[in-house]
Amino acid sequence: MKCPTCNKEAEIIGNLFRPFCSERCKTIDLGKWAAEEYRVPSKEKPPEEFHRSNGHSTHHEDIED
Ligand SMILES: [Zn+2]
Repeated sequence: MKCPTCNKEAEIIGNLFRPFCSERCKTIDLGKWAAEEYRVPSKEKPPEEFHRSNGHSTHHEDIED
């Protein structure tokens, strides 16, 4: 079995991190998925525009205050 992260041969028997060869490769893969999930929505909604529409309600609150 090859490790999906580094493509090195990974132990199957007694390997707590399979299909990864080590805890490090497992962490890297999980981090990669988390980073991609985080990257997709921020691509469709740029933080700048989100802040701008947020600024509208902030302005409204400012008037009431
Ligand atoms: Zn690996």
